[in-house]
Amino acid sequence: MKNHIMEVEQKQACTELLQIVIDGQASEEQHQELMDHLENCEACREEYLLSKTIKDKLKTGIKAAASPVGLANSIQNKILETASPK
Ligand SMILES: [Zn+2]
Repeated sequence: MKNHIMEVEQKQACTELLQIVIDGQASEEQHQELMDHLENCEACREEYLLSKTIKDKLKTGIKAAASPVGLANSIQNKILETASPK
Protein backbone atom coordinates (compact mmCIF):
# COMPACT_ATOMS: atom_id res chain seq x y z
CA MET A 1 0.00 0.00 0.00
CA LYS A 2 1.26 3.42 -0.94
CA ASN A 3 0.84 6.59 0.99
CA HIS A 4 -0.32 9.41 -1.26
CA ILE A 5 1.00 12.20 0.93
CA MET A 6 4.43 10.61 0.85
CA GLU A 7 4.30 10.44 -2.92
CA VAL A 8 3.43 14.10 -3.25
CA GLU A 9 6.21 15.13 -0.90
CA GLN A 10 8.69 13.01 -2.76
CA LYS A 11 7.65 14.50 -6.07
CA GLN A 12 8.20 18.01 -4.78
CA ALA A 13 11.59 17.03 -3.45
CA CYS A 14 12.78 15.67 -6.75
CA THR A 15 11.32 18.60 -8.69
CA GLU A 16 13.33 20.95 -6.49
CA LEU A 17 16.46 18.92 -7.03
CA LEU A 18 15.82 18.95 -10.74
CA GLN A 19 15.51 22.73 -10.78
CA ILE A 20 18.76 23.16 -8.90
CA VAL A 21 20.60 20.96 -11.37
CA ILE A 22 18.99 22.65 -14.38
CA ASP A 23 19.96 26.04 -12.98
CA GLY A 24 23.52 24.79 -12.72
CA GLN A 25 23.63 25.38 -8.97
CA ALA A 26 23.85 21.77 -7.88
CA SER A 27 26.84 20.34 -6.07
CA GLU A 28 28.42 17.20 -7.44
CA GLU A 29 26.56 15.21 -4.81
CA GLN A 30 23.22 16.71 -5.77
CA HIS A 31 23.93 16.13 -9.42
CA GLN A 32 24.73 12.49 -8.75
CA GLU A 33 21.66 12.17 -6.58
CA LEU A 34 19.50 13.41 -9.42
CA MET A 35 21.16 11.09 -11.93
CA ASP A 36 20.43 8.14 -9.64
CA HIS A 37 16.87 9.31 -9.23
CA LEU A 38 16.31 9.77 -12.95
CA GLU A 39 17.05 6.11 -13.55
CA ASN A 40 14.03 5.22 -11.43
CA CYS A 41 11.69 8.09 -12.13
CA GLU A 42 10.40 8.44 -15.66
CA ALA A 43 8.46 11.64 -14.98
CA CYS A 44 11.56 13.45 -13.76
CA ARG A 45 13.65 12.03 -16.56
CA GLU A 46 11.30 13.49 -19.16
CA GLU A 47 11.14 16.80 -17.38
CA TYR A 48 14.90 16.89 -17.04
CA LEU A 49 15.50 16.15 -20.72
CA LEU A 50 12.94 18.74 -21.76
CA SER A 51 14.29 21.43 -19.45
CA LYS A 52 17.83 20.65 -20.50
CA THR A 53 16.91 20.88 -24.18
CA ILE A 54 15.22 24.25 -23.67
CA LYS A 55 18.14 25.53 -21.63
CA ASP A 56 20.62 24.45 -24.29
CA LYS A 57 18.57 26.09 -27.02
CA LEU A 58 18.36 29.33 -25.10
CA LYS A 59 22.07 29.24 -24.38
CA THR A 60 23.01 28.73 -28.01
CA GLY A 61 20.60 31.47 -29.07
CA ILE A 62 18.23 29.16 -30.93
CA LYS A 63 19.84 29.00 -34.31
CA ALA A 64 16.78 28.62 -36.47
CA ALA A 65 18.65 27.20 -39.43
CA ALA A 66 20.18 24.46 -37.31
CA SER A 67 17.11 23.36 -35.37
CA PRO A 68 14.41 21.13 -36.81
CA VAL A 69 11.18 23.10 -36.97
CA GLY A 70 9.08 20.31 -35.49
CA LEU A 71 11.23 20.06 -32.39
CA ALA A 72 11.37 23.82 -31.98
CA ASN A 73 7.60 24.05 -32.22
CA SER A 74 6.98 21.31 -29.71
CA ILE A 75 9.37 22.94 -27.26
CA GLN A 76 7.71 26.30 -27.78
CA ASN A 77 4.32 24.75 -27.13
CA LYS A 78 5.62 23.25 -23.92
CA ILE A 79 6.93 26.62 -22.83
CA LEU A 80 3.59 28.25 -23.56
CA GLU A 81 1.76 25.52 -21.66
CA THR A 82 4.02 26.00 -18.70
CA ALA A 83 3.96 29.78 -18.86
CA SER A 84 0.19 30.21 -18.87
CA PRO A 85 -1.16 29.06 -15.50
CA LYS A 86 -4.74 28.78 -16.64
ZN1 LIG B 1 11.10 12.02 -9.57
